[in-house]
Amino acid sequence: MVSRVIPVDAFDLVIFGGTGDLARRKILPGLYRRFWAGQMPDEARIIGAARTDQDVAAFRTMVAEAIAEFVSERKRDADCIKRFLDCIDYVTLDARGEAGWKELKSKCRANTVQAFYFSVGPGLFGDIAERLRSFKIARQDARIVVEKPFGRDLATAKELNRELSANFDESQIYRIDHYLGKETVQNLMAVRFGNVLFEPLWNAQYVDHVQITVAETVGVGGRGAYYDKSGAMRDMVQNHLMQLLCLTAMEPPAKFDPDAVRDEKLKVIRALDPVEADDIVRGQYREGAEPGYLQDVENPDSRTESFIALKCHISNWRWKGTPFYLRTGKRMAARMSEIVVHFKPTPHSIFGEEAGTKANVLSIRLQPDEGIDLSVTIKEPGPGGMRLMDVPLDMSFAEALGEEAADMPDAYERLIMDVMRGNQTLFMRGDEVEAAWAWTDPLIEAWTRRGSKPCSYAQGSTGPEEAMMLMHKDRRRWRELEQ
Ligand code: NAD
Repeated sequence: MVSRVIPVDAFDLVIFGGTGDLARRKILPGLYRRFWAGQMPDEARIIGAARTDQDVAAFRTMVAEAIAEFVSERKRDADCIKRFLDCIDYVTLDARGEAGWKELKSKCRANTVQAFYFSVGPGLFGDIAERLRSFKIARQDARIVVEKPFGRDLATAKELNRELSANFDESQIYRIDHYLGKETVQNLMAVRFGNVLFEPLWNAQYVDHVQITVAETVGVGGRGAYYDKSGAMRDMVQNHLMQLLCLTAMEPPAKFDPDAVRDEKLKVIRALDPVEADDIVRGQYREGAEPGYLQDVENPDSRTESFIALKCHISNWRWKGTPFYLRTGKRMAARMSEIVVHFKPTPHSIFGEEAGTKANVLSIRLQPDEGIDLSVTIKEPGPGGMRLMDVPLDMSFAEALGEEAADMPDAYERLIMDVMRGNQTLFMRGDEVEAAWAWTDPLIEAWTRRGSKPCSYAQGSTGPEEAMMLMHKDRRRWRELEQ
């Protein structure tokens, strides 16, 4: 199979916060990999812009070090790195002051794609957007890329949207949710809408329930102070899990274009019922081999959750009666993200009870190894009569695509190239983000008002016992967490 890399047009990409952690770990190495793959042209310019007072040479050294640390050896070619570093520039700039902005303007060219990546805290979004306009740096067709967290509730998200839209049109704003950049997430749409097999069954009549899991083995680490103000609901459910839920549950858009897809996702969020208190389990990992959550955040009284499981319902014709179970947490048994669609068993077994009853399960794995797996029922081989068993029809990308899988762009690379192409399909629209907060806020307010304490769970486990009960009371079980 020959991979097709379609180069993007020459661009100027300004990275505000170019010396920060996200730029160093993800954005700059990702851009290098696209350069190595032949997708980013030599004529492109990447301009780091940050408070750090340094010259271009020092910034290039930082970029070279980031490539050495975060790009696999196979892709680190000396000539290629040199050519990439030639594309790099730097401006010392204060987002809240006047210094550096004129210099930045002088570096921006007239006839290239123009993009500004806001890789800084959301407190600076408004300042930067305003200066891009007042210093007449951003053109009418400029694109801006903003990072999560996009607000911490509906009010703050509205305020951020207001600050951005005072200076830019919605068609220029790219709100990143890197889960949407994952190959499998797009494959979910390919599987649903590119095959005749699934879509007729994709509804409450045939789907028993859906599970969406994003489990991490790491704790909150050095982000304790930030995380403690946020928690799993704000940090993961409102954005990543919600996006996965939307793509799984949405109606087929008329075409694969940004607004058609985002309109359908928005309808799903608006059709979500409020979640009953009994259908939410929150947890905190306790002390074990590593410090517990309360030690990590240095707040012995914290009631912020590092784990959450909840059952939600979508009140529309397609999904009425099919629950969607979401769970995410830190310090769990495995690092694993997947969407699992559990179909109902056949309405009648012609083989009798002794053959056993099985049901099809479609799992869409986002990590560790991206792929899609469908369990189908066959006859247990050999003599002994008709007994049924499940076998997987497995399509791991690494196996199916061989070497090509190793060269697949990661989520950030893909999304940045989408920005350069001007394709907003895999980015969240302002109204989607607000609708997601409008659903999340009352749940958080309710448990805060009740003063509810998270349940404790062991490190390396599947979360609190109570999360198991959430399923058991519905006579269902969570999928095993596998590495
Ligand atoms: P960071 O603290 O490591 O870097 C912040 C950057 O902003 C630095 O380059 C700093 O010089 C610059 N900066 C700060 N104040 C400035 C000012 N007044 N003027 C100009 N530049 C200024 O932060 P980070 O981890 O890189 O995160 C950046 C954003 O991305 C944050 O909103 C964060 O929540 C989000 N994010 C980060 C990650 C990650 O993995 N680091 C993941 C997802 C989202």
